[in-house]
Amino acid sequence: MNKTNGQNGSDLQRAISRSVTVLGSTGSVGTSTLDVIAHARQAYGNDAFPIEAITAQSNVQMLAEQARRFRPRLAVIGDSSHYAQLEDLLAGSGVRIAAGPDAILAAANEPADVTMLAIVGAAGIAPALAAVGRGGVIALANKECVVAAGEVFRRVLSTSRATIIPVDSEHNAAFQLLDFAQSHAIESVVLTASGGPFRTWTRESMASVTPEQAVAHPNWSMGAKISVDSATLMNKGLELIEAHHLFGIEADRLGVIIHPQSIVHCLIAYSDGSTLAHVSAPDMRTPIAYALSWPVRMHSPSRRLDLATLTGLTFEAPDKRQFPCLALAQESLRTGGRAPTILNAANEIAVHAFLGRRIGFLDIARVVARALSMPNLMDGELADLEEVLALDRHARMVANEEVLRLAA
Ligand code: NAD
Ligand code: MG
Repeated sequence: MNKTNGQNGSDLQRAISRSVTVLGSTGSVGTSTLDVIAHARQAYGNDAFPIEAITAQSNVQMLAEQARRFRPRLAVIGDSSHYAQLEDLLAGSGVRIAAGPDAILAAANEPADVTMLAIVGAAGIAPALAAVGRGGVIALANKECVVAAGEVFRRVLSTSRATIIPVDSEHNAAFQLLDFAQSHAIESVVLTASGGPFRTWTRESMASVTPEQAVAHPNWSMGAKISVDSATLMNKGLELIEAHHLFGIEADRLGVIIHPQSIVHCLIAYSDGSTLAHVSAPDMRTPIAYALSWPVRMHSPSRRLDLATLTGLTFEAPDKRQFPCLALAQESLRTGGRAPTILNAANEIAVHAFLGRRIGFLDIARVVARALSMPNLMDGELADLEEVLALDRHARMVANEEVLRLAA
């Protein structure tokens, strides 16, 4: 079957011949991206989406397997202690290899038509800004870089020739629904949240949840950090800040609604009374495929939606007393300036400590609140990437002290 036939066959042909770099190729979004590319090569031919570079932090085995299968020009391992192993595993393959954080940054700087930003956490900030500065299509999964670098991210974007296509499912949905020419008429942008595994739990019972329980998300299969963020609802808070920066919508027009089935991803209400919703099965390969071939739509292996088999779609308001991380993020969005950078850094430290069983689930919000309450962290503008990274480091130190205090 030749799916490139048809009216816009040449547009599709152009879209699938774009070169791609995947930063964070061994993670949940990274492997889904390669899955979509493998599917595109099956559907459209082996030369679809030639790969420039793939990068990973420590999973050298998987990185080497991906390199042998997808034939990138360059494969980079972040943790330099794995360099020799990567060299062995890729001997004779013709794939160039490199190691260390600077090599990941260099990979982000190498030309590619589409760059998938699928590194988790603030480690993605510098590579993201490098890729945005270089230009092309930026398939943006890493939300932490937008939250932490905020205005700096927007400034780099405004002077670059990059086009951001959000991959986060709610933002991808919003991007598809938003009528940018009618932005005056947008009354609200509402992101849905599944509510996570503890939606119906009491706070007392949440005190003793384990990392295993927290990462077991009801609808999505994701990396550990975002799964914990979904369980605390911090993920939705980060997403509100992400939406603010990506779409230029202020806090009072951004909302959250709990929707346990994760079928509706975003709702946009216009001033004429219309509300547009985006619906799809919860499968990241849908927004990933959209971003890779935008503005053309291509075939994706994603699960399809079968409304007749659904038992119902339900919606309820989030309970911010039950999930204080959402309230902390909303407050940070309103405060602006340095607050979101501190929120993000402290949350990363707290989630890491929770996954390492050093603090409890409810302590995550305590660590974040403590970091946000330090007046010396809140003073001053954030002028550039160096200042963002310095504040990120400083907020991590404060959060680590709070972790030590809570763990004592
Ligand atoms: P993951 O933990 O599964 O994968 C993270 C990737 O980043 C891996 O390839 C890892 O090697 C790499 N990495 C980790 N630490 C690094 C470091 N210090 N330097 C360089 N690379 C490093 O994470 P994920 O679930 O795929 O999420 C990736 C990003 O996408 C996150 O920002 C997350 O919030 C966002 N996101 C994920 C999903 C999802 O369904 N998983 C949905 C929406 C948004
Ligand atoms: Mg999301």
